[in-house]
Amino acid sequence: MTRSTPPRPVHIEGLFPKLGAFRGVTTRLHPRPGQADASVSSVGGPLLWPADEPWPVCAEPHKRSRGHRIPDIRRKRQVLADAWARDVPTEDERVLITELGRRHRDQDIADTDPIPLTGLVQLYRRDVPGLAPGPDGCDLLQVLWCPFEAHGPSRHSLAPHVRWRRSDQVRVPLDASPQPTLVGFEGSVAEPCVLHPEQVVTYPYAGSLPARLEKKIAAWEEKEERKAEKRGPDDELVTYHHDLSIPQGCRVGGFPSWHTTDPHPMNCVTCAAPMLLLLTIDSNEWDGASGSWMPIEERAVPEHLRDRRPTKLDVGRDGLLNILACPTEPGHPHRWSLQ
Ligand SMILES: [Zn+2]
Ligand SMILES: [Zn+2]
Repeated sequence: MTRSTPPRPVHIEGLFPKLGAFRGVTTRLHPRPGQADASVSSVGGPLLWPADEPWPVCAEPHKRSRGHRIPDIRRKRQVLADAWARDVPTEDERVLITELGRRHRDQDIADTDPIPLTGLVQLYRRDVPGLAPGPDGCDLLQVLWCPFEAHGPSRHSLAPHVRWRRSDQVRVPLDASPQPTLVGFEGSVAEPCVLHPEQVVTYPYAGSLPARLEKKIAAWEEKEERKAEKRGPDDELVTYHHDLSIPQGCRVGGFPSWHTTDPHPMNCVTCAAPMLLLLTIDSNEWDGASGSWMPIEERAVPEHLRDRRPTKLDVGRDGLLNILACPTEPGHPHRWSLQ
């Protein structure tokens, strides 16, 4: 089934014609649970990996001896999904869910033992319009991460890992990828989802626009807020930030959001070119009272079964991960920002 973004509640270019010069396109991936194998684009599906190529590991020193077991995480999700599809979890199911949510300890895992990364996304160029070119004719983008929030100077950061490859050069694919015994948090493990790519119009984050235009939009938003207050508490306020500029959900291309850090330049470490957004991995496909980014098709699903987090990924506590690429030379190292 395709997924279609509903028309925006306000034609923003009609109000601010100067925005037209900044209009962009992004491809919403619309991941939804499904049978994904290594030959298709997916979130949380198996990655096409050469059997003779080492699987990437995290060797950065950090605690990895305490965490959740992947089979427990998957079973807990299944029990919950079955229960909600039927009614509500029974008492027995509640006990089981608590048990499956327990953290475990493995004394044999030292803080420097290399642990396998877990796959997040793989995108074949043929499936995803708008995917920026990879280096040297590569047609397959793969993103993995360490399933612990324990990296960098803060010791709480995530550690994504980006690979490009040529799918036609994988002669003998790996059967099953290695899995860590324990993962740091349940939201580090993605459910296998197939994609339903859709291209939509997008505009830059307000703070990235010229100051005059940003101010005009902010003034309009304030006016709308006052109007909404008069109309009552149930009124659905439409804002540039939430509804009109950057879509929610996993997507390719378009503009990065800077809602937790404010915009800051991300330049290529090799050639200093301002980097472009390659891919966003978002915890949520939509949210908010209006859920304005919820696809039209989703409205037919009973409200209690609608899942705004079909991938089950929790990126930086309800946030999103932007992966940026060098526009001059796609082989230059990627950078990322957590929002
Ligand atoms: Zn790690
Ligand atoms: Zn560069």
